[in-house]
Amino acid sequence: MDVQDDLSTYQGRLKTFTESWPFSKGKLTRQEMAKAGFFYLKGDCVQCYYCEKELDCWEEEDDAFVEHKNHAAYCPFVKMFSEPPNSVTVHQAIELEKDKLLLSLDRSFEKWLKDIKEVNEQGISKFSKEIKKIRKLRL
Ligand SMILES: [Zn+2]
Repeated sequence: MDVQDDLSTYQGRLKTFTESWPFSKGKLTRQEMAKAGFFYLKGDCVQCYYCEKELDCWEEEDDAFVEHKNHAAYCPFVKMFSEPPNSVTVHQAIELEKDKLLLSLDRSFEKWLKDIKEVNEQGISKFSKEIKKIRKLRL
């Protein structure tokens, strides 16, 4: 991926905002969105590069960074900065990538646990049906 297209950078995120982005004032300009960690999807829908949260239904008076914090307080990006950063140091960028990866691993673990639980429940249900069948045979 080209450095310019890297969504971990402000410039990379800014480039994703096309003419279709409906806001050009206040705290919802393309620049403010990119600065708040978002890249553009479609309509008025954006996604955070770090926590993958998608947000839409913006209102004129909204503040991109504040909304990001309100809807995804767990996001490494909004946890690291108290306000939209003008620049990110190499050290901060590495920390953010590490936290992004940990967040993604956590999601995978949760999903795997859920899958295992489902499979177990299906197994238990099948097993108890078999037991019932066997018990009926005895009668
Ligand atoms: Zn985020």
